[in-house]
Amino acid sequence: MMEAESEAADILGRAWSFLVAGEERQFQGNTGYEDIIEESYSYDSTVGNHQHVGVGDLVVVRNGKEALGAGFVEALHVLPDQEKVRSRCPYCRSTGFKERVTMQPRFWCSRCKHAFDAPDTETLWVTAFRAHYGGTWQPLDGCLDKTHLGELSLSRSDQQSIKKMHRRRTLDAIEVRGVRLPPFREISQANGEGPQRLPGGRRRAEATARRGQDGFRRALVHQYGLICAVTGAAPAEVLEAAHLRPFAETEQHRVEEGLILRSDVHRLFDSGLLAIDSELVVHVAPSLAGHEVYSALSGVPLRIPRDAPIDRTAVADHHAATVATW
Ligand SMILES: [Zn+2]
Repeated sequence: MMEAESEAADILGRAWSFLVAGEERQFQGNTGYEDIIEESYSYDSTVGNHQHVGVGDLVVVRNGKEALGAGFVEALHVLPDQEKVRSRCPYCRSTGFKERVTMQPRFWCSRCKHAFDAPDTETLWVTAFRAHYGGTWQPLDGCLDKTHLGELSLSRSDQQSIKKMHRRRTLDAIEVRGVRLPPFREISQANGEGPQRLPGGRRRAEATARRGQDGFRRALVHQYGLICAVTGAAPAEVLEAAHLRPFAETEQHRVEEGLILRSDVHRLFDSGLLAIDSELVVHVAPSLAGHEVYSALSGVPLRIPRDAPIDRTAVADHHAATVATW
């Protein structure tokens, strides 16, 4: 769908999605600088749309399957006259061939189905770019998938590394899923080296990778967004997948038997100090009456859609077992 963006959106900046390759967490650009997905993205002048990305633009970083996170471009580092070696399939000239782990010949072209020992190479001069967004980065943890991103895209091609997105609709989609982007801030580029890497970047990258390995949490984030079912939107770092039935009893990861809960609420839920009845209303143990932060949650309706696929029997069973101890 091609929808014209309003003039106001153009004044405020544009929106892009940046593709990172496969499962790789890091990307070695032309400059030898190692990108951390949570901080910056490198590309060069051979990439479509490279000339349109600017400071203040919204970016959503995606892999082939889903959105990893979002932020605003705080600084753009431009490195002119960079040498780039480009490899091509010797049969069809495609750049889309793969290196194989064990099989010989080493390379295989998915376009013309030829295998070969060495690609043809050519050297070209490019301008390299690095867009920094780490100071405003918020993990999305897959709460928007490939299909959602396609609906927010203003470009029909799936192949583009940098795709134009509809800014307002993308911001709305992120907001609805509980993600709270901080206001845009520009980083000073006074020093010649450009903005420095944030000290927490690598730690955040490792934490993101860890969360990504939890299939149950991934499925629940996809269903509910980054929203605690009891307390509402919260940073990805404190949101956990809670089992409505003790995991040991079922050994299954059914979305119907899970909820996204903030880590402290999750702990109360597992400790029998907080329960949810079959009408999806929260109850807090009388012993927490002195803790206003938690006693205030008593009587609050669960923050999930009416038609959410939740197993009410599992909720009721947990509730009965829990309140019996109060
Ligand atoms: Zn080929």
